[in-house]
Amino acid sequence: MDIEPENQYISLETLENYIEQHPEDAEKWLKFMDDTPESIYPLRRRRPIDPELNPEILTANLETTKTSDTPIDNYQAGCLHCKKSWAATEGVPQIELICGHSYHTVCYMYDHFKNDFPRCMVEDCTIDSWEYVRVIYKAKRKKNDEVHNVLLESHKRRPDFRKDLSDLNKCITEVTKYSSGVEKLIKDGKCELIHKHLHSINYLQEDMNETLVLIRASEERTNYKASVSKFRKLASRFFRKYHVSFRELYQRRLVRCGWEVRRVLERHGTFRYYKLGCRIYPGQKNFKDPLV
Ligand SMILES: [Zn+2]
Ligand SMILES: [Zn+2]
Repeated sequence: MDIEPENQYISLETLENYIEQHPEDAEKWLKFMDDTPESIYPLRRRRPIDPELNPEILTANLETTKTSDTPIDNYQAGCLHCKKSWAATEGVPQIELICGHSYHTVCYMYDHFKNDFPRCMVEDCTIDSWEYVRVIYKAKRKKNDEVHNVLLESHKRRPDFRKDLSDLNKCITEVTKYSSGVEKLIKDGKCELIHKHLHSINYLQEDMNETLVLIRASEERTNYKASVSKFRKLASRFFRKYHVSFRELYQRRLVRCGWEVRRVLERHGTFRYYKLGCRIYPGQKNFKDPLV
């Protein structure tokens, strides 16, 4: 029997019949199937064959996505992404979607890169090419699963498989049992620890809370809060006037600050007092006096 090396070409029925007759071969098949995921689902991003860009191709395509000064308004006349006519862009590679509508390949891919799963731009076009691709992908996956099921079903009929599987399950049960034993020791250990050191822990907690109150009432914090609200006032005027965001300025190094400060200024969060806390973890070295 001649079998193609990719399982989407194997009929499930053929495989079932074959294994029915030659159950001893099932193992070979399973091994063979294990090699398939890679061939069916290639890596999403392969390394480019030539990592260096060809400057000629780059220059030729750099202007492709630029919108035309004399825009076309329908798909028959040209590419709806860049609005250039087919006549004006002769020789520029095109891509045709399942719906039959075409775009410049670079324009389409550029849009895809920017927005995941772009739709066809033709008004009234109801065919979503990506939805078809998704369904095809799922169907292939399902078929692969079905083939695996057939092979495992045949394995299940083998006494040695059943014996090995039951041994495996016994091992898993054992691991689960002893693992919950350790979990319990950890939980009990923590309870003991808190029970034994309750006064010390609470002493620490109270001290920490007092320090926090002092920090909150400090001149430094008052100054900090005032500086942030001063920034907010100026920034909102600044951004309204120039229509640029803080992020844009930061990326171009026109404003400079550490990420902790940026976090606050970009309103991702407030001052983080939790850093005052001490983390005591098991298995770590003893604390050293930071003031000595
Ligand atoms: Zn185009
Ligand atoms: Zn379309």
